[in-house]
Amino acid sequence: MRNIAVFSTMGIVLVLSVVYDTNAEYSMQPQQTKEQQRGPYLGIDIGGSNTRVGFFPSLASPDFTLIAKFPTRQNYELQLQNLVSLLQERNMSPVIGIGLSIAARIAKDGRSVIFGPNLPEYIGKPFAQDLSDRFACPVRLAHDTVCGLLAETRFGSLQAVERCAYLTVSTGTGAALQLGKGSTRLISSIEIGHQVLDGNSLQCLCGMVGCLETYTGGRQLELRYGRPVEHITDIAFWDSFTDKLAIGLVNLAQLTRIDVVAVSGAIALNQVFLLPLLQQKVTAILKQPSLSLRPAALGEIAPLVGAAALLDVPENVILH
Ligand SMILES: [Zn+2]
Repeated sequence: MRNIAVFSTMGIVLVLSVVYDTNAEYSMQPQQTKEQQRGPYLGIDIGGSNTRVGFFPSLASPDFTLIAKFPTRQNYELQLQNLVSLLQERNMSPVIGIGLSIAARIAKDGRSVIFGPNLPEYIGKPFAQDLSDRFACPVRLAHDTVCGLLAETRFGSLQAVERCAYLTVSTGTGAALQLGKGSTRLISSIEIGHQVLDGNSLQCLCGMVGCLETYTGGRQLELRYGRPVEHITDIAFWDSFTDKLAIGLVNLAQLTRIDVVAVSGAIALNQVFLLPLLQQKVTAILKQPSLSLRPAALGEIAPLVGAAALLDVPENVILH
């Protein structure tokens, strides 16, 4: 167990307790030497609602200073300008690299957004190149679930696990998957929320009919029920919610033979009963082999920490 101090510019110190497995047979080994890992680096997390920018003195640690949080601009150029102005205002020294997590699907070359219902104006723009030109440093992009997984495999609850996934249960239901063996691994963003469940005739916001997310996506449920999911106390609702999510996780485990899932996202983090209930249902269906569900140790900062960690992961490890 190690305590990680995370400092913000507001003078608030958050301390995260992270469990380190001293018997680790497998862990993400940094690709650079300690010397090369010295920053400064920037991690940026662009969510559908807010953008957070963290200053990382090193890639060898999840410690960072939160230098800004502001509403995500739907206008792509305004968002770029906001980021540039931010660093100019703070008169920061040139950064060595920028890792960026975004709530959108990334093109296979990792350089632009190809699908993002919350950020339609970003689609097709040369995002990585534009940032690289403005900040004169290398830039890496990835889907926020990939960044969450990177953070958890490196510093959180997925350390020492070769086959695992990171699941976020929030406005949408998203996931990323890691299949590893020894020093080799592949990471991919997957569309877990848009797997089709038998007998489901509900229309999904993605345009398809029958998606898991029609039962588990915060935005869709709020539209259907007229209030945020967090305000629903009906037991039958949560029973159905966890029934469907359990099926989705069992399908994922059977198709990929993963052993562990780190669960994150506002809905999962705020409903303390959800994870034990979900585990019970998954175990009842799956029997053998087992699938272990764990809370994501880094909570809501995982995508930001993982954004910086991107800079230390070879490009060919990630299938966007
Ligand atoms: Zn869908």
